[in-house]
Amino acid sequence: SVITRFAPSPTGFLHIGGARTALFNWLYTKRHGGKMLLRIEDTDRERSTEPAIKAILEGLTWLGLDWDGDVVYQFSRAARHKEVAESLLANGRAYYCYASQDELEAMRAEARRDGKAMRYDGRWRDRDPSEAPAGVKPVIRLKAPQEGETVVEDAVQGRVVWQNKDLDDLVLLRSDGTPTYMLAVVVDDHDMDITHIIRGDDHLTNGARQTQIYQALDWPVPSMSHIPLIHGPDGSKLSKRHGALGVEAYRSMGYLPVALRNYLVRLGWSHGDQEFFTTEEMIEAFDLGSIGRSPARFDFVKLENINGHYMRQTGDDELVGAIEGLLPEIGAERGLGDAFTPALRAKLVAAMPGLKERAKNLVELLDSAYYLYAQRPLKLDEKAASLLGEGRARLAGIVEKLEAVSDWKPENVEAVVRQHAEALGAKLGQVAQPLRAALTGRATSPGLFDVMAVLGRDETLSRLRDQLS
Ligand code: GLU
Repeated sequence: SVITRFAPSPTGFLHIGGARTALFNWLYTKRHGGKMLLRIEDTDRERSTEPAIKAILEGLTWLGLDWDGDVVYQFSRAARHKEVAESLLANGRAYYCYASQDELEAMRAEARRDGKAMRYDGRWRDRDPSEAPAGVKPVIRLKAPQEGETVVEDAVQGRVVWQNKDLDDLVLLRSDGTPTYMLAVVVDDHDMDITHIIRGDDHLTNGARQTQIYQALDWPVPSMSHIPLIHGPDGSKLSKRHGALGVEAYRSMGYLPVALRNYLVRLGWSHGDQEFFTTEEMIEAFDLGSIGRSPARFDFVKLENINGHYMRQTGDDELVGAIEGLLPEIGAERGLGDAFTPALRAKLVAAMPGLKERAKNLVELLDSAYYLYAQRPLKLDEKAASLLGEGRARLAGIVEKLEAVSDWKPENVEAVVRQHAEALGAKLGQVAQPLRAALTGRATSPGLFDVMAVLGRDETLSRLRDQLS
């Protein structure tokens, strides 16, 4: 049966590329009724942090990507990694290397001169450890094959071949007894019974090196899929500006997990030209063979469109709940605190059908409902301020006319506003626009007369007096 893993290094947040890798593993796993394991690769003690681990676990949970069993922490397995390195030493597939820092630096310098990558020259490969210099702690290196080729039969990249003469004897165990990344990954994937490795193609060459370790251990090599990285819209490396952000940033920007999932699945994978997938459809359709070989390009506009689509599909009550979930982050600056009052909640739910047609994310949605929770005197945005500035004179006397409305209903306030415009010889819009600006603080809003009805007589008149006196 299929066992996959997601193996992030907790040196930063769960970024968008990692989230996609997790999603692909999860989909493949579900498709085949297998298990997905989560391994936190925290062997780099300097750079691994608790907040990063927390962000990774929370990010996966928010995206709805669950894993099987307990989280495996790679560092806790260091003794096992060492044991495996020593077993390779014992059967002659690895050796102690006593090369000094100066010697290694000389090899590095030589490689630099030739414009090549550093290549360890194997000087301790066949030397007797009795020649070891006193007081030097050795590393353990793999006795890698020097002839022939190493092949990765990659499910995405196809057959990829390396000449063994180009791959040097890599370090398995450092002189302080800690494992290298290369060794730890192989030992853990083996011990966790991983059948399929799906990860970014920045690990493709590691795939060849790891294959050599598997072969030295006489362990079966798991199936490998190296998926092309996500690039920026212009084809360059994905930058922060282009969306190289943590998953929690997308949450904070007001994207729905279902939308982000749908967007991510199409980054590098396709199923005909189908755009929207339910989770079940995604699982049903997912296969490694349809992952493209060229880098996917990140496209914010597409993400926004998909998010808008899912917001319109979401029930009004649920949508208000999703906005409320963001209040601890964005409520204070809007004068809202951590939760909606029941009264505001009800108003928001009622306003959602009109508002969600336009907004691209939950934050925009909340801002478009500003008129419902704005504190007097309203802060007008730039467009609204200029509309009101330009049309203020046309509102002279309107407060008194509105005060005379006894039954405060949309059609009654509409009649007053229309008469006011006619008396001025103005178009309705020339009065309605500055009015909307004064009442909502924005240049656009749901229908003005509905807004006035929802606000009620007292609040409407108070807001007008605030702006007009
Ligand atoms: N820990 C590695 C990373 O975050 C991934 C290792 C792997 O998937 O084999 O890039």
